[in-house]
Amino acid sequence: MRLDKYLAETAQCTRSEAKALLSKGRVQVNGAVCKKGDTQLKESDTVAVDGRALSYQQFVYIMLNKPEDVVSASTDKRDTTVVDLVGDAYPRRQLFPAGRLDKTSTGFVLLTDDGTFAHDILAPKRHVSKTYTVVLDTPLTEQMRTGFAAGVTLADGTALSPAEVTALSADGLTVRVVLKQGVYHQIKRMFGVYGAGVNGLHRDAIGGLALDPALAPGQWRELSAEEVSKIS
Ligand code: URA
Repeated sequence: MRLDKYLAETAQCTRSEAKALLSKGRVQVNGAVCKKGDTQLKESDTVAVDGRALSYQQFVYIMLNKPEDVVSASTDKRDTTVVDLVGDAYPRRQLFPAGRLDKTSTGFVLLTDDGTFAHDILAPKRHVSKTYTVVLDTPLTEQMRTGFAAGVTLADGTALSPAEVTALSADGLTVRVVLKQGVYHQIKRMFGVYGAGVNGLHRDAIGGLALDPALAPGQWRELSAEEVSKIS
């Protein structure tokens, strides 16, 4: 890869910012200042800016705590999107949400530019679980619990795979739901089959990775490789 392209991708800057770093002599290749953007890098070369080594990351994985009224999309004409919340931190990456939460739902949204990973974790065959805390307008019943465990058939005839639901509060109004598939408005429609409405829906975890409690609504952070591996 060319040095200027590598710089833009690893230092998260534009090509012209990369050129400026080069012309000011702030870039070192294998310890020596290099000013030529068209230098072809070898796998073994080390690149540093102002003496700080860069490491190339092919893809980025971000955990975001989605607030209400933000849409799970990359762009939208009217509403703020989950990608808008990341701002211009990754100008050269095409981030998108791997899976959606409704506009009114909150919690863990994974943003990435790794299409293969996103496809894999969303594929129903992979059975990556998603865990939600749901607030109902009517208490959980045994009929709902056994119905979810057997696989709910939605009003339009869609037969869903088994899902877990357990009460989290003594009044049965706050419940945990674990799904292994992602159908549009799935949880709301599942409870709708039993005449129950959903007043609040928050995603707590994707696979074995829980939303970081330090992230306030609207905040995000990059995931480590170890955290990414806990998802699938
Ligand atoms: N199910 C829903 O109904 N809404 C969500 O946002 C996620 C799962």
